[in-house]
Amino acid sequence: MTDAYTRFTRTALGRQIVKKAGLPNPARLPRQADRPEPVLDPVVVLGSSAGADEVAALLLDWGADVRRRFEETPRVGSVVVVLDEVSAPRELGEIVLPLAGAMRSLAPGARVVTLSRPATGEDLARDAARGGVEGFVRTLGHEMRRGGTANGIQVADGVALTAPGVATTLRFLLSARSAFVDGQLIEVSTDAGRRPQQWDRPLEGKTALVTGAARGIGAAIARTLDSLGAELVLLDVPASGSELSRVTNELRATPLQLDVTSEAAGARTIAFLRERGITLDVLVLNAGITRDKMFANMTADRWDAVIAVNISSQISLVEALLSAGDDGADVLAEDLRVVSLASTSGIAGNRGQANYATSKAGVMALVAALARRLGERGTANAVAPGFIETDMTGRIPPLQREIARRANSLQQGGLPLDVAETIGFLCAPGAAGLRGQTVRVCGQNMVGR
Ligand code: NAD
Repeated sequence: MTDAYTRFTRTALGRQIVKKAGLPNPARLPRQADRPEPVLDPVVVLGSSAGADEVAALLLDWGADVRRRFEETPRVGSVVVVLDEVSAPRELGEIVLPLAGAMRSLAPGARVVTLSRPATGEDLARDAARGGVEGFVRTLGHEMRRGGTANGIQVADGVALTAPGVATTLRFLLSARSAFVDGQLIEVSTDAGRRPQQWDRPLEGKTALVTGAARGIGAAIARTLDSLGAELVLLDVPASGSELSRVTNELRATPLQLDVTSEAAGARTIAFLRERGITLDVLVLNAGITRDKMFANMTADRWDAVIAVNISSQISLVEALLSAGDDGADVLAEDLRVVSLASTSGIAGNRGQANYATSKAGVMALVAALARRLGERGTANAVAPGFIETDMTGRIPPLQREIARRANSLQQGGLPLDVAETIGFLCAPGAAGLRGQTVRVCGQNMVGR
């Protein structure tokens, strides 16, 4: 699904005009089907800490061609910058500067990933160095070319750089599954979880419920979770019944026609699961709507509809499932994963979307609270898509749509698949150490952080 401008830039005439006029030149972003290997070789691991050695060994274990410096290295595909032991800003340069000279010769679709520790408030110089990594990663995200991305993993003190959550996040960020995740820092706060036996099918034997699965991002989530090995229950409103059947037939999934805002939604879902003896390992709260209006023209029906679908329904469903039986024991499996759909509008706000941004900022707070409530029983996180090519963004007026689509470091809209891949990563057994976070899937959208 390539937009008309991007198709034009790939014609002979388009290439000339784009170059002469300095217009946006969106690169082709390889996805998992185009580049299935987990790491684009060769990978250079920078840093000299014990953690850097462990990460290099982990990458070798994945079959990667690992180097420890750039000298005489052919066109580098991936760079892992290990900064876990920096104790003052002046120490950063020695580790990161070797990458400066290699930036222009990185392979198309290259990956840079930093591994660092979060600031703790205990040591001025160490916190300044740790905090500085954020500015470095976000700037590299803006400066990477030809579809390359730069992201960071912040690993809490006491958690090993090879802990399941770190390994799972590193593998995701280095792979083509993270094609539209750029300029982000993902925090791994505990060493909970386990590495999957099969990296490509981490959800084998798991069952997932996806709401709003009849089309768009929800249908893409269903397809991705299916490809990762999950059994699926797919929910959508009765009015989308025929679209939902198409997806459930394609994936041999179980359909559940239900309006998530109906008063009985929680009870009906529980009854449905009990009748079929289904326990859920994964809950993806994707159903969402927009009813845009400038706030000066906002009406109660538009406001209420968005709040009801995008956030209140999520709270009711989660509360109902968690209180079914003994702490949800008969409908929810141990080591639960909840992933909800936020939006970059909820981070930065967006003209004409006061209702939507309120609901999506609410989602981010909801997953943070839910992760705390779940404790060792599982985890909850959110994804915040930026501009994704779907029916929802297809309704934006053409000029506004074209501007929104280009306003990110990758100069293009993302695909529903990109959001789905990030959700697949957050649902994996190894992601237990990610707690209450919102991961942006926005190509480093120019709005917000
Ligand atoms: P979409 O409109 O294409 O699909 C939404 C689905 O949710 C539809 O199948 C719809 O029938 C279903 N749904 C709506 N109300 C429901 C209800 N009351 N009960 C059950 N199902 C209901 O939207 P999309 O673009 O695929 O968006 C999916 C999610 O991603 C939403 O939460 C949206 O806010 C979020 N999101 C999308 C974008 C984007 O660029 N498309 C950006 C940020 C966030």
